[in-house]
Amino acid sequence: MSKTVASVITIGDELLIGQTIDTNSAWIGKQLNALGIDLRRRVAVGDDKKAITDALNEELANAQLVIVTGGLGPTADDITKPLLLEYFGGKMVVNERVLAHVKDLFTKRNRPFLERNMKQAEVPETCMVLFNRMGTAPGMWFERDGRVVISLPGVPFEMISIMLEEALPRIKERFTGDAIVHLSVITAGEGESFVAEKIQDLEEALPAHIKLAYLPGAGMVKLRLTGHGTDEATLTDEMRPHQMAIANRLEDIVISLTDEPMEAILHRWFTSHGKTLALAESCTGGYMAHLLTQVSGSSKYFRGGIVVYQTDVKTEVLGVNKDIVDANGVVSEATAMAMAQQATTVLKADYGFGITGLLEPPTGDDKGTGVAWMAVAGPEGKTVSRRYVFHYDRHRNKEMAASMGLLMLYKFVTDGTRPWRD
Ligand code: ATP
Ligand code: MG
Repeated sequence: MSKTVASVITIGDELLIGQTIDTNSAWIGKQLNALGIDLRRRVAVGDDKKAITDALNEELANAQLVIVTGGLGPTADDITKPLLLEYFGGKMVVNERVLAHVKDLFTKRNRPFLERNMKQAEVPETCMVLFNRMGTAPGMWFERDGRVVISLPGVPFEMISIMLEEALPRIKERFTGDAIVHLSVITAGEGESFVAEKIQDLEEALPAHIKLAYLPGAGMVKLRLTGHGTDEATLTDEMRPHQMAIANRLEDIVISLTDEPMEAILHRWFTSHGKTLALAESCTGGYMAHLLTQVSGSSKYFRGGIVVYQTDVKTEVLGVNKDIVDANGVVSEATAMAMAQQATTVLKADYGFGITGLLEPPTGDDKGTGVAWMAVAGPEGKTVSRRYVFHYDRHRNKEMAASMGLLMLYKFVTDGTRPWRD
């Protein structure tokens, strides 16, 4: 079966003028890629009838699957639905399930149901409705001459929910004959070239139908094996030894064999060991606490975090000894260690983490910008510390500092054991 060719069309003036960044195409691209569908073009057009029609004609000339997002709302600038009605013919009909859902949403939100909201439940009779659990505008699936056009709302979380629940399973069934398997090895703390160097021979030994991709992130390198075959189970069995060979070779820096963020890995460790964690963050401004609490159920182990930004907050609220700060400086090993220890005491946790630094890009003089000290304190007073220099701009430095901080926590708590083997 030859690869399905797909296109994405995003609609909205705001995308063209840079007011909204088109995240929809990127997300859809990832999903289609995972299914082995060849997303060949991404097109953005304004809220303009001719532009949308032209884009549809052009993309349908080459693609078997065209996914359109945006312009489905009830306002005058939302012209996608009437346009698709014209494009595919027939008349508008009220979809009863959508109507009941829209009315229900309005009741729950205590809003009057207006005539124009009724329109949200109307769809061209030629389409199959893709139910939108998260909002009012339904997705639509059209077919003509063996080609499929899917129209989705522009609001990212609505688009994602319809894709995951309604569209992707049907796309998979309809367009993919082959099995595609992805297996990951997630590493942290070393750069891409270091990793590539170490596994060069393993990479070269991969058969042609198994490919290796390097996906670098903040402080991480994700390795992803993608295999193509006819049967998922057989292919997985064939790929597993390659994945393990890579993981065993890189063993010190491997953190997981599934593509998941560090906060998910920490979550698993803390909850399965019944231990608790507290943070005292200065330069990361609570960003680490934000990351940890992105995982549902983090209150099972995460006691809390204090953002101790100004020096007197470090001493008076967190209780870091003022003499330590005076003698060593606020960005210092001793202060970071005291912050980690105080986090465990003040927030009554098994483990505490402290970070203090200046995350402006390094200026090359002795102002100490780009430098961060971090520390982890554990049971029985054991404390470790580490100094980092971050070379990027403030935002990226903050991301890097948070990633390195989470990695340091992981290394401390796992203490040379390798939970990814279990
Ligand atoms: P609604 O029912 O809310 O009107 P809609 O289908 O009409 O949905 P739009 O009006 O085009 O969608 O966009 C709704 C929101 O989603 C806007 O805030 C818009 O900026 C955002 N949005 C639209 N397209 C994209 C995209 N490709 N990537 C990210 N955000 C988008
Ligand atoms: Mg709109």
